[in-house]
Amino acid sequence: MNIVLLGPPGAGKGTQAKLLREYFGLWHISTGDLLRKSIADGTKLGSQAKEFIEKGDLVPDNLVVELLKERLAQPGIEKGFILDGFPRNDAQAGILDAMLKKQAIVIDYVLYLEADEPIIIQRLSGRRVCKNCQQNYHVTNMPSQKDGICDTCSGLLYQRPDDREEAIKNRLLVYLRDTKGLVDYYKKQGKLLKVDANFDAPIVFDGLKKVLL
Ligand SMILES: [Zn+2]
Repeated sequence: MNIVLLGPPGAGKGTQAKLLREYFGLWHISTGDLLRKSIADGTKLGSQAKEFIEKGDLVPDNLVVELLKERLAQPGIEKGFILDGFPRNDAQAGILDAMLKKQAIVIDYVLYLEADEPIIIQRLSGRRVCKNCQQNYHVTNMPSQKDGICDTCSGLLYQRPDDREEAIKNRLLVYLRDTKGLVDYYKKQGKLLKVDANFDAPIVFDGLKKVLL
């Protein structure tokens, strides 16, 4: 079972990917993680990606696809995977399909996690990060023991600027705009499955299992 995971920021993609990985034994392939790892390992693709990032440019699609290709060529891939972070638009989906076709790999399902704006704002605007060790907290869902202080290192907790309400609304608009073509692309292929992600993670995961099984 090969899955592409889509959904706006705050829909809970990371948590659901983890649950999917554990339940179905799938690989979780996050292109963000792949990029960071290739840069840290100093691979050929990693050093190419680093040049773009250092210039403040986006890493080109073909480079991300090359990284994915390497990852998908590793043994164990037949168990299936969850792809997270790519594609982000219909052009990238086309490039991905062309690459997968050569490797005789098919995307079976595209899961789209849908959550309402007030829920997303509640989730993201409550997020706090430790200035010192980067640990994540949430003011209601996962508070620190002492208000504003990190449990692990006593560092100060702060709200990232893009987790403020206005910034969240803007991130949502950008996401919806950029993924409109992508959603249509997978809808046409008959692979798109929408999942209501307005609930707590275990309930969302139950809904997700229901559409997959
Ligand atoms: Zn800390």
